[in-house]
Amino acid sequence: MHEYSVVQALLNQCEEIAEKNNATKVHKVIVKIGAMAGIEPHLLEVAFNTFKEKTICDGAEFIINSQKLKLECKECGDVFEVDEVRYFCMKCESLRVKVLDGEDMYLMSLEMN
Ligand SMILES: [Zn+2]
Repeated sequence: MHEYSVVQALLNQCEEIAEKNNATKVHKVIVKIGAMAGIEPHLLEVAFNTFKEKTICDGAEFIINSQKLKLECKECGDVFEVDEVRYFCMKCESLRVKVLDGEDMYLMSLEMN
């Protein structure tokens, strides 16, 4: 499943960050998932809770923030968020829009000691 490999990468990332900060335990992991990231938040949480055991994230709380698709219009400069996949400007209907956010998953913060 796609979410499993995403979680493996996430856990590796957490371990790297913890190591750099001389931390031995991660208490809280906060991620942001873009609407277009192709990741199902519930499945991601299940995968995280399955794989976190015996890693530095064992027992850590997992918090998911959803990010809507955020676009900027190159025509009129409008910046807006959309609920559905519509790659055009809500104001002037231009197709020259740039994706600012909502297509990826990011690790936002870690609480550790
Ligand atoms: Zn526009």
